[in-house]
Amino acid sequence: MEQSELVLAHCIGCGCDDHHSCDTDAGKCTWIVVDWELNVGVCSACKAALVAWKQGARSAAAVQASRQQEQPPLG
Ligand SMILES: [Zn+2]
Ligand SMILES: [Zn+2]
Repeated sequence: MEQSELVLAHCIGCGCDDHHSCDTDAGKCTWIVVDWELNVGVCSACKAALVAWKQGARSAAAVQASRQQEQPPLG
């Protein structure tokens, strides 16, 4: 196993990290919020995920679950 000196956070919306930032209209994405204990965050390209983050989501799966709850019922 390789040991990395720098601990990277990754975005729960798109999975990007400090070494793989995504492109936004304003250039490379930046962190809107990061939890450095869990090493997860929401980047500026994933403002939609910020809603889930504020609801306590700290993983991609939690974001997806939150989005499903937001969808209107069928019919
Ligand atoms: Zn993102
Ligand atoms: Zn990003």
